[in-house]
Amino acid sequence: MKRFKKFYIEITNVCNLACSFCPQTKRQPEFMKVENFSNILDQIKPYTDYIYFHVKGEPFVHPEIDKFLDLSYEKGFKVNITTNGTLINKVEDKIIMKPALRQINFSLHSFDGNEGSRNKDKYINNILSFAKKAIDNTNIIIALRLWNIDKDNEISFGKKKNYELLEAIEKEFKLNYKIEEKVIVGGGIKISDRVYLNQDYEFQWPDLKEAEDDGKGFCYGLRNQVAVLVDGTVVPCCLDGEGVINLGNINTTPFSQILESNRANNILNGFSRREAVEELCRKCGYRKRFGV
Ligand code: SF4
Repeated sequence: MKRFKKFYIEITNVCNLACSFCPQTKRQPEFMKVENFSNILDQIKPYTDYIYFHVKGEPFVHPEIDKFLDLSYEKGFKVNITTNGTLINKVEDKIIMKPALRQINFSLHSFDGNEGSRNKDKYINNILSFAKKAIDNTNIIIALRLWNIDKDNEISFGKKKNYELLEAIEKEFKLNYKIEEKVIVGGGIKISDRVYLNQDYEFQWPDLKEAEDDGKGFCYGLRNQVAVLVDGTVVPCCLDGEGVINLGNINTTPFSQILESNRANNILNGFSRREAVEELCRKCGYRKRFGV
């Protein structure tokens, strides 16, 4: 079994939305070049078979998304994409039959994060129509995510803001039950063959400006997941969207060498002792999801 179950590659840090829950990157807008992507794949092959086109940015704004999928297939990778779903109609023909494509996660909470800017019916219907085509014609797994539940008022608030989206899903898949009666916050339900819905709390992104906790705890960063930002910066997880824990640049330093660096080893050994050694990790709400 290869070390990384999830290898995030940010093919662009440009996004077509500005969601309230997702801090905007202060980095230069950039699109990864196909040559750089190809070089990254060659370097990471001994460590993973699963890549995720996501850190910051919306992967479907990359004009060469189809070439990235083709290259991934040629080099033996399975690809998972996380998207806000707004561009699914535009990219559908370019992606739907790509054999590398394993799973698409639709962040439906992005609608709630941009209230008033789009037509909710059109948004969800485009996504659901793609989901139907994908399950009828391919092996792609579809995950519909609603990670917008408010801890203080989880039942009424969550139900109210997601009501229309859930109703559209129930109608499209002809469900004879109400999703909200079955789904548990933090868990998922199977809607249909290869279609899942997952509801979870909105989490706090790591930020150096946040208050530091006691640093006790665990995270899978660098243990079974790692990320490469669009400029080649390697970071331990998909939440370090500003490259605070900069472990080196994969375009200039071999990935194997980056993994053996003191900083990388300290992070990994620290989490083995249940200790967050990096300041950013001590200010990371996501770590609390592991409950230690
Ligand atoms: S604790 Fe947070 S910032 Fe640190 S590696 Fe884990 S997810 Fe990333």
